[in-house]
Amino acid sequence: MKKYLIALDQGTTSSRAVLFDLQGRMIAQYGMEFPQIYPKPGWVEHDPAAILSTQRESLRLLVAQTKIDPQEIAAIGIANQRETAVLWDKQTGEPVYHAIVWQCRRTAPIVEKLVADGMKEYIRSVTGLIADAYFAGTKLKWLLDLPGVRERAQRGELCFGTIDTFLAWNLLEGHPHITDAANASRTMLMDLRTLQWDETLLNALEIPRSVLPEIVENARFMGALRKEILGVPVPVCAMCGDQQSSLFGQACCRPGMMKNTYGTGCFLLMNTGTTPVVSRSGLLTTVAWRAQGQTHYALEGSVFVGGAVVQWLRDEMGLIASAQESEAVALSIPDNGGVYLVPAFTGLGAPHWDMYARGTVVGLTRGTGRAHLVRAALESIAQQSADLIDAMADDCGFRPHALRADGGACANGFLMQFQADLLGLTVERPPVIETTARGAAMMAGMAAGVLTYDEIMNHWQCERAFVPQMEAKARDALRGEWRRAVARAKGWEAREGDEMPSSS
Ligand code: ADP
Repeated sequence: MKKYLIALDQGTTSSRAVLFDLQGRMIAQYGMEFPQIYPKPGWVEHDPAAILSTQRESLRLLVAQTKIDPQEIAAIGIANQRETAVLWDKQTGEPVYHAIVWQCRRTAPIVEKLVADGMKEYIRSVTGLIADAYFAGTKLKWLLDLPGVRERAQRGELCFGTIDTFLAWNLLEGHPHITDAANASRTMLMDLRTLQWDETLLNALEIPRSVLPEIVENARFMGALRKEILGVPVPVCAMCGDQQSSLFGQACCRPGMMKNTYGTGCFLLMNTGTTPVVSRSGLLTTVAWRAQGQTHYALEGSVFVGGAVVQWLRDEMGLIASAQESEAVALSIPDNGGVYLVPAFTGLGAPHWDMYARGTVVGLTRGTGRAHLVRAALESIAQQSADLIDAMADDCGFRPHALRADGGACANGFLMQFQADLLGLTVERPPVIETTARGAAMMAGMAAGVLTYDEIMNHWQCERAFVPQMEAKARDALRGEWRRAVARAKGWEAREGDEMPSSS
């Protein structure tokens, strides 16, 4: 009897293995952290061997500690940190260099060159992405530019991959060299419509086709887990980038359904159906997943400072003792008292796109107190998310119907209620907030034939629904004031050559 599904959740700071039952309920998890390597300012690397060993060990320890029989595992799914790039030798498995992590900015000059060569619009229309060092393609070019590496690649000796590919090659029998459509859509090398590598971009970045993996569906038999890992060849039946996996884990399988992960930053993805929607507001268009012969697309936007503003209140301002306390403090007053905080600490992303914006507090009066600032900070998380959702709705021409929440800050009931009020939409919070792992496990279950799409939709549970209670007039006033506050925050940081305002 097959009773279980397992997700390997390979994240930026830890590798985890998570056990689910066939109803999508989490049973147990085991995780191991690995070191972050910062060789220079702005550079971030991981040791691929550490990724591999922590991932393999966390799986082994999960199975050992829960004492489940590996024969009872129906399938394994892999979710992974996206855009992180590795290049390794086909014969020895030895990486030519560390993995270059998604956060790493070292390839900004390569992107600048692409833009100077007039590729910006091409990249936007073909890949759905904004030309940026964040994506894996320019990281691969940087690796190929290391001495002697491109020659080895041209001789067919090397394999490139994002972490899904690297794990599949190392953990599965027969070393398959594959990636899934969702991960491939984050390389800035894939044509969003054909789901094939794009020759023009490969030529522009001097990437030999032979280093690239085959692009496959997200949910299908990828291969059998190497027998020495668990003693039995458990089928691996899904791979997916973490944010898309979380969209699936939240069962947002129909157009208009969306999820927001309230972590350090916020990641918002909306399912837009089976044709890609190109954004007018600088949101990313991405493959959500490809399964059962159909490609589902999503619009994606992120808030740079989400839960981090709560950490700032606690650590820099000393206004609260814990993140949790922010809820009671915000609820100790009836409203924000006209105070707005725009946490543009590092500029503003979509849909504002102003790297010169800086953090701003407006509306202070003699009566403003600590609670107003705390409340304004929490409100700013919801306001920034609402800005993204409004932009998504404009882009695809329909109003989304509900928002599903996860991430650490979704524990905050005030924040969730305020989000619902601000959007005029119900915000639903599931009992399992490990939605990234849940998505990969459910996807694997679907490909293994133990779950259907409908069952995945039906198994999704709501722990608490936050129903909008605010009147439209009050909501419009809050949104309007927020926009005025954002306008004040914009362009604050002096650009090079600007004159500083004089003090007289
Ligand atoms: P990440 O995965 O990005 O590290 P998590 O999903 O673990 O983040 O969420 C942590 C973030 O959530 C922190 O920024 C923290 O300030 C915020 N947070 C945690 N609990 C609460 C809470 N009760 N209210 C508001 N923010 C919270």
